[in-house]
Amino acid sequence: MKIAFIGLGNMGGGMAANLVKAGHEVHAFDLSQEALARAREAGCEPFTAVPDAVAGVDAVVTMLPNGGIVKAVYTADVIGKAPEGALFLDCSTIDLATAREVTELARGAGYEMVDAPVSGGIAAANGGTLTFMVGGSDEAFARAGAVLEPMAKAVIHAGESGAGQVAKMCNNMLLAIHMIGTCEALKLAEKAGLDPQTFYDISSKSTGYCWSLNDYTPMAGVGAASPADNDYAGGFAAGLMLKDLRLAMDGAATAGAKVPMGEHAKAIYEAFVEAGGAGKDFGAILTTLD
Ligand code: NAD
Repeated sequence: MKIAFIGLGNMGGGMAANLVKAGHEVHAFDLSQEALARAREAGCEPFTAVPDAVAGVDAVVTMLPNGGIVKAVYTADVIGKAPEGALFLDCSTIDLATAREVTELARGAGYEMVDAPVSGGIAAANGGTLTFMVGGSDEAFARAGAVLEPMAKAVIHAGESGAGQVAKMCNNMLLAIHMIGTCEALKLAEKAGLDPQTFYDISSKSTGYCWSLNDYTPMAGVGAASPADNDYAGGFAAGLMLKDLRLAMDGAATAGAKVPMGEHAKAIYEAFVEAGGAGKDFGAILTTLD
């Protein structure tokens, strides 16, 4: 297939490279010349304008920072410029309202579109082991599989348009809550005189087990290897987690859902980011408990 890939940053760069490895012809576009140069090295064909990149393709994949940018790119340069029948896949994490609006605009112009946000982070983007949560019609989902499989560990149909973004915001709200809880439990164990590694050995096999504790232990030298062992460099930035929590709180307000722990998690990450922690891995909340 010929696939246009727009947004070749931390995530998109590795994802586009995996499409090339799977044998697809990948047309790359990014505003950053550096990102574009990396894409060329990975075997993509670089373009300097979106309409040229999407000309003649079977599918367009976007991996962009936020909903405003996603809407601007599709309305200005993709809808009406990509060939009739091309499939659009937006893999960015964006607000539900924009995801649904852009899909409607695409459908109105005769294109199928799915929202397909991901879980797994940069290592999974590079390794081709992302989990895709896909919102769209049965037909669009069936077509999306061939594009997503080379980048995926799992591709799951969440439901109609927007359902992928709903799954993503719920997942990341839960992740924020159990990360904060994990940090509190590790520090409580330590302060109450229990060796945190012993606490890990017990709780990771008890009802306290969760991904934050078992697989991404946020205390240096304890449990699983994680960015905590590298002074919280790399990993999933607290600033991105705050963005996702804001999307979840907006989604909860629109849906009329009560999310008191989600609101609390947002306030905790807001304070951490305001204190200069935006670039630290989100497990660095542990350092605020000393
Ligand atoms: P990033 O900032 O590294 O990459 C975004 C890229 O988009 C940049 O290269 C930027 O130059 C480019 N860009 C911005 N505006 C553009 C435009 N108008 N046209 C073309 N290119 C443009 O961000 P990222 O970490 O790759 O994240 C991308 C998306 O994936 C976000 O929505 C993020 O929430 C989501 N996500 C990130 C992670 C993670 O661990 N980083 C995990 C899951 C989901």
